[in-house]
Amino acid sequence: MLKVVNINTYYGKVHALKNVSLHLNRGEIIALIGANGAGKTTILNTLSGVTPPESGTLQFMGQQLTGIAPDRIVKIGISQVPEGRQVFKGLSVEDNLQLGAYLRFRNRESKDVIKQDIGHIYDLFPRLEERRKQMAGTLSGGEQQMLAIGRALMAKPKLLLLDEPSMGLAPLVVQEIFAVIERLRTDEGTTVLLVEQNAKVALKMADRAYVLETGRVILEGAAAELLENKDVQRAYLGKE
Ligand code: ATP
Repeated sequence: MLKVVNINTYYGKVHALKNVSLHLNRGEIIALIGANGAGKTTILNTLSGVTPPESGTLQFMGQQLTGIAPDRIVKIGISQVPEGRQVFKGLSVEDNLQLGAYLRFRNRESKDVIKQDIGHIYDLFPRLEERRKQMAGTLSGGEQQMLAIGRALMAKPKLLLLDEPSMGLAPLVVQEIFAVIERLRTDEGTTVLLVEQNAKVALKMADRAYVLETGRVILEGAAAELLENKDVQRAYLGKE
């Protein structure tokens, strides 16, 4: 579904991604793990068109992504849930969800269908329905994360890019959110690329994972195998 070959991405002189290659099959949950500054977010930003690569190729469902603007990339089927959630704090829960369907409104998609989709988000996250009129800025961290995911889903993505969804959240809330991600994959075949500093949580949930170090992929494989890998345990799971 997604094939990334030898990409190099820079921020000015900072060489953030060095010959990174990876692939995602439809319906997979893939984790990207690595220390602070390893380049995880940069991979997501490269895929969503925010920081285009200097070289290399990106192919999504047979289409080249290089040089395509972020809004077109959303239209093609890739949505990103940014690190730190970034919901529109001064707007209600429901208005945030509506904004997630902005490009669909612009395409004159039926308002009824969009309304139905908001109903579907409320099925996935019942807490959002209870708070539909509440200002997003007054939601708890976990609820804001649910809203950020719901907003991204309103674009009907085939590939969902999730940046640190567990950050700062209690384990129970993390479980609740990850159960929804699992459900999206099972019910809708959504493919997920998950960036996580919490390597343990990520590897338990993912099918496969890539380990990044200073802009390079240093290890890849089945998540279950990486959980057992001694180097991964030492560096990322806090085990001796
Ligand atoms: P974290 O877990 O801390 O978010 P990360 O693995 O997601 O880390 P990136 O945010 O992708 O890492 O950063 C990769 C490298 O690129 C880092 O060295 C970082 O300092 C640098 N970098 C990121 N964004 C910018 C920017 N806007 N301008 C300059 N350098 C940047």
